[in-house]
Amino acid sequence: MIWTQPAGQGPPATGPFQGRGRAGESGRMSSALAAAEPSLTTMAAEVPAQDTGASVGPVPILVLVVEDDSAMQRALRINLRVRGYEVITAIAGQQALTEAGRRPPGAVILDLGLPDMSGIEVIKGLRGWSRAPIIVLSGRTGSGDKIAALDVGADDYVTKPFDMDELLARLRAVLRREDANPRPACIGECEIDLAAHTALKGSTPVRHTPTQWRLLEILLRHPGQLVGTQRLLTEIWGAGHERSAHYVRFHMAGLRRRLEADPARPRHLLTEPGMGYRYQP
Ligand code: CA
Repeated sequence: MIWTQPAGQGPPATGPFQGRGRAGESGRMSSALAAAEPSLTTMAAEVPAQDTGASVGPVPILVLVVEDDSAMQRALRINLRVRGYEVITAIAGQQALTEAGRRPPGAVILDLGLPDMSGIEVIKGLRGWSRAPIIVLSGRTGSGDKIAALDVGADDYVTKPFDMDELLARLRAVLRREDANPRPACIGECEIDLAAHTALKGSTPVRHTPTQWRLLEILLRHPGQLVGTQRLLTEIWGAGHERSAHYVRFHMAGLRRRLEADPARPRHLLTEPGMGYRYQP
């Protein structure tokens, strides 16, 4: 199906509906447990060290759709949600930058022709701090704007009118590339390169246990998103550890001591009380 101009109706909802992952979970620690942090020695013996793992699974990827054409925006929003993405939208460049700052997206679909500023300027603004993949929608026939967009940091483009399935395939492709070769992330002065498996403060390596690294990896792959404690327990320790929220709390404390400038007031590795954890870029 080719999407051109307002069709006045939504796209067909094909494909399996995966639904949004549940952000919250029930791993609230008891007050007794919270009050009694086990010693490092006790915990080290108690916490099983599983540190390899497959992909991160069903935390929905947040996609920012920047498009001033309301029918096009709606078509994108519906198609993305049907396929399990979480979607936020903006109809102008400044709004896009504001929304992205408020909730860092995992990917951006960006129309180049916006009412208030060029999409090129939006890419420049995002690339000042965000490494999320950007796919550009170009309504123009010339290739100059696409080249300019790629030059300032876009990852791919489609030309309007475009095939929705092709756009979605391109989105999956840029996310796969990102997943296979994630770009380095920064926590304070520490640069973490998941692909190279390194964490460097200046030129000094910051050491992590395998479990800490796995925890960090899951959080960094979902920038700005809440990852539930139950999900972390299942991903890292497997089934049967639903009541072991203290494992996560223990290893998060270790990560903060190594990475945060002020571990008591973390700015990047945040706790959402009773819910889970969030990496804030
Ligand atoms: Ca436009």
